Amino acid sequence: MTSRPSVEPFAASGIGAFDHECGVLVVGFGCAGAAAAFEAARSGADVVVLERASGPGGTSAQSGGELYLGGGTEIQKACGFDDDPGAMYAYLEAALGPNADTAKLRLYCDGSVEHFEWFRERGVPFNPTFYDAPTWMPMSEDGLMWLGENAWPYNTISRPVPRGHRPAAGGFGGGVLMERLSAAATAAGAVTHTDTLATNLVLDATGRVTGAVARKYGNTVTYRARRAVILTTGGFVDNDEMLADHAPLLLGHGKVSDGLDDGSGIRMATAIGAATRRMSVVEIALTALPAMVCRGMLVDGLGRRFLNEDVYPGHWSVHAVKHQPGPYWTIIDEEGFEDVPEPDRWGLRPKHVTETLAELEESLGMPAGSLESTVETYNRHAANGEDPYFHKDPKWLRPLKPPFAAIDPRAGFFGGGTGSATGAAGFTLGGLHTTVDGEVLNHSGVPVPGLYAAGRAASGMHGEGYVSGTSLGDGTFFGRRAGRHAGTAAIR
Ligand SMILES: Cc1cc2nc3c(=O)[nH]c(=O)nc-3n(C[C@H](O)[C@H](O)[C@H](O)COP(=O)(O)OP(=O)(O)OC[C@H]3O[C@@H](n4cnc5c(N)ncnc54)[C@H](O)[C@@H]3O)c2cc1C
Repeated sequence: MTSRPSVEPFAASGIGAFDHECGVLVVGFGCAGAAAAFEAARSGADVVVLERASGPGGTSAQSGGELYLGGGTEIQKACGFDDDPGAMYAYLEAALGPNADTAKLRLYCDGSVEHFEWFRERGVPFNPTFYDAPTWMPMSEDGLMWLGENAWPYNTISRPVPRGHRPAAGGFGGGVLMERLSAAATAAGAVTHTDTLATNLVLDATGRVTGAVARKYGNTVTYRARRAVILTTGGFVDNDEMLADHAPLLLGHGKVSDGLDDGSGIRMATAIGAATRRMSVVEIALTALPAMVCRGMLVDGLGRRFLNEDVYPGHWSVHAVKHQPGPYWTIIDEEGFEDVPEPDRWGLRPKHVTETLAELEESLGMPAGSLESTVETYNRHAANGEDPYFHKDPKWLRPLKPPFAAIDPRAGFFGGGTGSATGAAGFTLGGLHTTVDGEVLNHSGVPVPGLYAAGRAASGMHGEGYVSGTSLGDGTFFGRRAGRHAGTAAIR
């Protein structure tokens, strides 16, 4: 038995006079909280945002800032791409699947151009330039990139169009994104209480959520919300007990978060009967570089390829950790390594370099002949521009020749580790079960009165898959919808 902080609800009748009162109480000031607070304030509600850290940002501010948007945005048009919501839907239904939430996905794709303009109107800058190479994140300020749309089998399901939109930031753009979104929410009238950790929800006699209890500098503070409470507290990757209960695949791996994704919002809501969805679904990123694995191959601990290396890199990462025996290796030859521009190498240097594959197998602890057999098959087909096993794009196919090198994800990018010994890090995608307007549902499928959620505290449009940009994308899109709905909810 472990003791977890109590998330049992408080009865409004037991509180008497509340310390603060507002129309809509938003808990958590990341991207979803900013979007919800902005729209609730624009709807005319007086909004208070509680944030446990000393300023807004959350994991969103530390992110790459990639936003999955499309359907024909101005940036896509300026870069010469013709897109439509149907093509976007077809790609995401496959890439976020199986079992993507089709109702949320349809709204997201149909509303994507408007959502892009919403970011621009909030002052988020996007350059009309295109980065045309495989990467987790370009170090350039280019505004558009591929996120797996041009790789098999997705290029047979939907016309390939790049939809990775990036704030002009030169590398990680989450800081710029959150600077603009938090300023917009504040300008719209939302008031922020920082260093304030919400701990419990408040219920009235009818079971309606009418506020929250929080801790600030060691004191208890109470908030009454006349219209609604919106939980935008992020996911639960920083809570190992919750991982053990719901998403044990991530235990032991690095955590893609700001360190505060402890699932507190999800716990507070489930304590009053809220339902959750997709709690086992996770995103995982291997510390392997797409630019290198495309030019060579990604193999498992038995020297076997397992996916076309040009898909969205999260797909080979999740596949590896879920289905293949580790450790995982990028195998590349000298010509391939030299072909990667220096800034795109992210400080990676091969530790294992050999003239023969037999020596490389021995150095990596692989069964004799395993990698030799993989490379022999790969080379035989690559010589004809073919990859009959995994269908990598012919532009990346070339027989590999000595000297060969292996790069270990556990070495980390830029000379640093990933925070775990495994070379993999991730975050959670499951959360509270919500309607398309962010209303939190109970186990009977009925909205819990007065309670909304968005961002990684909720289950969004993801099925069992993820592509970059869909977390910030769905967090802000459905955060906005939750804010609008809660901002016009009846006053109690
Ligand atoms: C390095 C990195 C790169 C990434 N790159 C991308 C990318 O390019 N595109 C993409 O889509 N996603 C990316 N992600 C993932 C993405 O950043 C997150 O999934 C997303 O930001 C979650 O948004 P959110 O609003 O739900 O949560 P957050 O941004 O984490 O906000 C939650 C906020 O709630 C606060 N909070 C939590 N509990 C409480 C409480 N009880 N009381 C008060 N406040 C509370 C937290 O302090 C935090 O500020 C990346 C993540 C990382 C770490």
